[in-house]
Amino acid sequence: MAKRTGEDSCSFCGRSRGEVGFLIAGVRGFICDECALAASEIVTNERSSLKKKKGFDGVDQVQNLPKPMEIKSYLDEYIIGQDEAKKFLSVAVYNHYKRIFQKKEDDVEIEKSNIILVGSTGTGKTLLAKTIAKRLHVPFTIVDATVLTEAGYVGEDIESILTRLLQVADYNVEAAEKGIVFIDEIDKIARKGDNPSITRDVSGEGVQQGLLKLLEGSVVNVPPQGGRKHPDQKMIAVNTQNILFICGGAFDGIERHIANRLNTKVVGYGASKKSAQVDMKNLLQYISPQDLKTFGLIPEIIGRLPILTHLNPLDRDALRRILVEPKNSIIRQYKKLFLMDNIELIFEDETLDFIVDKAIECKLGARGLRSIVETIIVDDMYSSPSMQIDQLIIDKAKAEEKLSKVVLHSMA
Ligand code: ADP
Repeated sequence: MAKRTGEDSCSFCGRSRGEVGFLIAGVRGFICDECALAASEIVTNERSSLKKKKGFDGVDQVQNLPKPMEIKSYLDEYIIGQDEAKKFLSVAVYNHYKRIFQKKEDDVEIEKSNIILVGSTGTGKTLLAKTIAKRLHVPFTIVDATVLTEAGYVGEDIESILTRLLQVADYNVEAAEKGIVFIDEIDKIARKGDNPSITRDVSGEGVQQGLLKLLEGSVVNVPPQGGRKHPDQKMIAVNTQNILFICGGAFDGIERHIANRLNTKVVGYGASKKSAQVDMKNLLQYISPQDLKTFGLIPEIIGRLPILTHLNPLDRDALRRILVEPKNSIIRQYKKLFLMDNIELIFEDETLDFIVDKAIECKLGARGLRSIVETIIVDDMYSSPSMQIDQLIIDKAKAEEKLSKVVLHSMA
């Protein structure tokens, strides 16, 4: 440490102890408070520009990107089934980031691979998008298209989609510009030809028109705090060229359009040879862009969502696996919570089957599993931390008893 003498001064600016707030002593000299602050600022700026040069998460070339098979096996750790959607997503995401790394002077321009996922509610659409973003360490946000519908087609509200992305990226515009946006319930902004409310119809299409600009890639002025509440706020320009948009929707009733296209009847007696090969229980697997158009998405939107894939309905087996298998499955999460109180939580196999039965009965799908488990063990979560126990077994009788006291609401 520097020896204190009468002439102690800052080794950077040369000012003496009396001229500065205070001096910090080093091995051979001193630094004053002001120089220390200035140095800290330089370090922060240098670090962030270094990061920017390297691109997101330090990946600076295609060779360092996770390959589609790696992405898929990562998804497998968290999501049960949905193999086709996983494959489509993994490839689309890989190609998307390849496109980002493409050299500007390249004469073959790779187009954006925005994605649309079609599947019933609670089958894992959001989970897929979220998990991919986690793997890639890019900013990720979920927006609900129905909110945009309510706001009509004024336009600036559509830009607020990017406000959320900016916020999760800590206002690092460059990072946000390589992020992923999941637009949920895209089906709710479909144009409905037979909709009696003309205003609603127009607003749906208006939102679709507004979204086009974002999806195809353009520079958009984004209100940093969102909404219209702060009309004076300074806008931030965000280029959506390299933002990956993943849209999801249940598209209720689209099976009818698919069946019509396939020239079959949904209740198909007298089925033709062609329809006999069609799996009527899961018509979504045959979905094509044409069906989205019949449903009410405008062709321009469909064109900007070139990757179309579907999610399968979750059967009993899938629900049972969802309870226990994923890395952060519901059962594992509760076990962890109890373990923090040094209690081993055990669900008997019969209990798990019962939980799945209830989820199916209530038409809650995977979404319902958590609330059912929560209902069963909430009393124990309340009392067991104050009790001297090291194990808690949840048998079927107990689960039945707990559930008998509540009415589970069907989401159907
Ligand atoms: P949606 O298709 O409506 O976007 P989500 O992805 O939000 O459905 O799923 C709701 C919840 O259900 C998830 O948080 C997850 O716990 C569970 N879940 C749904 N599908 C799966 C799946 N295929 N694998 C694992 N968990 C799933």
